[in-house]
Amino acid sequence: MGNIVLLDDLTINKIAAGEVIERPANVVKELVENSIDAGATQITIEIKNGGKTYIRVKDNGSGIKKEELPLALERHATSKISKIEDLENTYTMGFRGEALASIASICKFTIKSKTEDEYFQSVLKTEAGSFVDFEESVGPVGTEMIVEELFFNVPVRYNFLKNDSTEFRYIKEMLEKIAIANPNISFEFINNKQKVFKTPGNGKLEDLVYIIFGKKISQNLVSVDFAIGDIKVSGVIGNTTIAMETRKDELFFLNNRYINNQILYSSADQAFKGDTGIGKHGFLILNISMPASEYDVNVHPTKKEVRFKNENEVYKVVYQAIKTAILSKKFLGDDSASDEENQEYVKNEFAFLTNNFTSKGFENDAIIESINAPYQEEASSKDLITRNQKREIKYKFIGICFKTYIIIQIDDEIYFIDQHAAHERILYEEIKNNYKANLDGNVQMILMPEIIELPHKDIDFIKRNAEVIKGAGFDIDFFGDNAVKINGVPDIEYKTKITRKELFLDILDEMITSERTANKDIEERFIATVACKAAVKAGMDLTREEVDYLIQNLLILKNPFTCPHGRPTTIKFTKSEIEKMKV
Ligand code: ADP
Ligand code: MG
Repeated sequence: MGNIVLLDDLTINKIAAGEVIERPANVVKELVENSIDAGATQITIEIKNGGKTYIRVKDNGSGIKKEELPLALERHATSKISKIEDLENTYTMGFRGEALASIASICKFTIKSKTEDEYFQSVLKTEAGSFVDFEESVGPVGTEMIVEELFFNVPVRYNFLKNDSTEFRYIKEMLEKIAIANPNISFEFINNKQKVFKTPGNGKLEDLVYIIFGKKISQNLVSVDFAIGDIKVSGVIGNTTIAMETRKDELFFLNNRYINNQILYSSADQAFKGDTGIGKHGFLILNISMPASEYDVNVHPTKKEVRFKNENEVYKVVYQAIKTAILSKKFLGDDSASDEENQEYVKNEFAFLTNNFTSKGFENDAIIESINAPYQEEASSKDLITRNQKREIKYKFIGICFKTYIIIQIDDEIYFIDQHAAHERILYEEIKNNYKANLDGNVQMILMPEIIELPHKDIDFIKRNAEVIKGAGFDIDFFGDNAVKINGVPDIEYKTKITRKELFLDILDEMITSERTANKDIEERFIATVACKAAVKAGMDLTREEVDYLIQNLLILKNPFTCPHGRPTTIKFTKSEIEKMKV
């Protein structure tokens, strides 16, 4: 080993850059965040070759004074905090004072800047962190930073970069998040001289969603505006028709900074459960505002991870914010439920999910336990479980087509209702209610109990999940080591001609298959499978009474849009939409 020596500044900065600057997207992020911190209302970002050869970020913010320009490139030079206590009240994006020093050390760097009080724009050039040139020129108030030949002196890093289009995509996705978090700032993004997007900066989240995610998503949003104490949750969530396969479009922001946080994802999962379809994720863009003293963002230099001081409270507020928005949907005239009714429902649903559905799949059992604590009491009082009071839906029956779709008219809207998906949704709710309420009377006893012989691993599965199976309404006993006796099945209306034994075996089969893929939602999947097996199928003839039963029971549900697997139950056209379709 060599002697101990102090590292020179360039080496220190290059090491620091390694922590924060892995790729062009990190550079763009740091520069754009500086522009935001400088109070800019217009920011232009231009890149070439995925940012490898050229990155330019120009803003109309406060600018940097000529005398302070060299200082901005010093490590730990920041105008944003002066002592550690300031972190508690810091809402700016940056505060470590490392980014510019790090970036400058690994590229050819140009800063052009002018404050309001200055007459000339200062232009400073450095290469690998060393001074190259300084001049004065003419330019607007604000700052423009140009990064050329990133990593030219760190070949190891350069070689590690992906191809241009991949690096471009990283930059684009990151900028989209920043743009969404800042609806009042207009962002223009240019790639290889072509405009990628430009946001209006008019403060309207809906306009931003339209530009970034497209028309379909922007037309299926429900706004969220919710607060408990000093935690406020605002933004939009997507309705069920735009639920996603991945959580790529679940965007959480904390005081307008994009963050990744497991607590928030779990909370959203719970809130969307039953409304997005099993295994799907709701679309959401939510900003959580709360005092900076209530969390710590300094966990990692990229500042994407935060630690909340009161995780349970955050979990709960986010859950309730989303659930309340889901229930506020104006769909099929179901906006009649009062806010208090909805609040009650949300609380109740929350208690149910956290008590029954989550504890297994949840990564952090300790959290869920403490979240349950304040709710335990409420969850046990059965009278809280108040579903929709019956109310009659007035509709005009038009007919059934393809032996599958019931067509009805309500006011000036036409609905095509998928008979299987609709019945499935109704039965699912019914079984889930019974499961929740833990009612004893939800079993339909069979006159002649059936004994089914099963392989050992199936018996094992049933034993492990006996609670769930019984909760859903199966009355079973174990009969010796390799058989179960079925005394009763869930007390719902079976429209399919299926024997009780077949029903049980089918469900068992599906559960065992899905256990291998995702055992997380076992209860939900179980209930959904029972509902699916019992529901009318496409192609079955329905009587007029059966049609009425389906419509009356579907349309009073809180979430009539999709079957439990996420397939739509209903397609709706308004009269004016039909007029527009005519060519
Ligand atoms: P930090 O953002 O953590 O303070 P940086 O290294 O990113 O550290 O920036 C150092 C300082 O340079 C900032 O504190 C700020 O005073 C100044 N600065 C950087 N970019 C800009 C900009 N676009 N407009 C105005 N000032 C800027
Ligand atoms: Mg910064």
